[in-house]
Amino acid sequence: MLYTHIYVEKEAADYPIAKRILERNTSAGVITINHYKDIFNRAHQDYRMQKRSPALILAVRHGNRIFAGAPVCQSFGQQNFFYASSVMNCPFDCEYCYLKGMYQTPYTVVFVNFEDYAEEVRDRLRSGNCYLCVSYDTDLLALNGLTGIADEWIKLAESSEGLQIEIRTKSAPQRLEPCGNVIYAFTLSPEIVAEKFEHMTPPLGARLAAVRRAQETGCRVRLCFDPMIKVDGWERIYPDFIDEVARNIDLDRVIDFSVGTFRISKDYLGRMRRNCPDSQIAWYPYVTKDNVCQYPQQTDAAMQNLIVDKLESYNCTGRIFKWN
Ligand code: SF4
Repeated sequence: MLYTHIYVEKEAADYPIAKRILERNTSAGVITINHYKDIFNRAHQDYRMQKRSPALILAVRHGNRIFAGAPVCQSFGQQNFFYASSVMNCPFDCEYCYLKGMYQTPYTVVFVNFEDYAEEVRDRLRSGNCYLCVSYDTDLLALNGLTGIADEWIKLAESSEGLQIEIRTKSAPQRLEPCGNVIYAFTLSPEIVAEKFEHMTPPLGARLAAVRRAQETGCRVRLCFDPMIKVDGWERIYPDFIDEVARNIDLDRVIDFSVGTFRISKDYLGRMRRNCPDSQIAWYPYVTKDNVCQYPQQTDAAMQNLIVDKLESYNCTGRIFKWN
């Protein structure tokens, strides 16, 4: 993706990642700023308009860079579950994305001081193993050609004993680097859901082909069927979709599967509704339990069980993780 404007913190300009990004966007207007929050946290921003004309912000991250995993996220049974936010916001535009409820703007912030992240991870590893999700608040692989940050995380994982990273994506990379400490987690949705709600993402066929290529080169692959969306005909659409996935991917070689329905914290849903006033997903009448807006319990369980049962019919038992 090419950006029309790039805001650059004075402090960020000389970092190699900043220089790389600016070299790849020579036609962008560059605006020097003091602090990324001057742009990112401005009140009364027009979210939809900014998404149509996206800008990039290059910044230096101070303070904490690694955080404990949130309860609505799956740990896959791993201890010491953390996530890192080296980029905020995403080049894709999924209608259900919680980022629409998290931030006031869709402008993407890239933190260019990767070595500080690496140092914080090394510090953490001194007190034990670490399972670290690095692509929650963005799609790092979709941005990798521009930023190179996914490559940096993979290099760090390769050289760090006890570190296991998950890189989640909806992109369809041509080639991925196989590494024992890296899990490539592909999120897949039925074509009808992807077309309707996962704007700007590659089509399902391209993502399935990318998963196949990753498996063929020896990458560790996770499949995420999360979030499931309650579209008309979901009872038929989701099992047919798993059949399609099974026709295209060797499920025996998938390390595990994540299954979950749409859910979002109450606060985020409120902001998502303000940012996306015409969104069918934002305005669905969810129920709220423990401050999390979600489908009614029976519907939620029926939806997840549908995929679990189907996966179990393909001998995936014991490798399936549900969100609740
Ligand atoms: S790919 Fe993920 S992070 Fe990006 S918009 Fe979609 S849900 Fe959000």
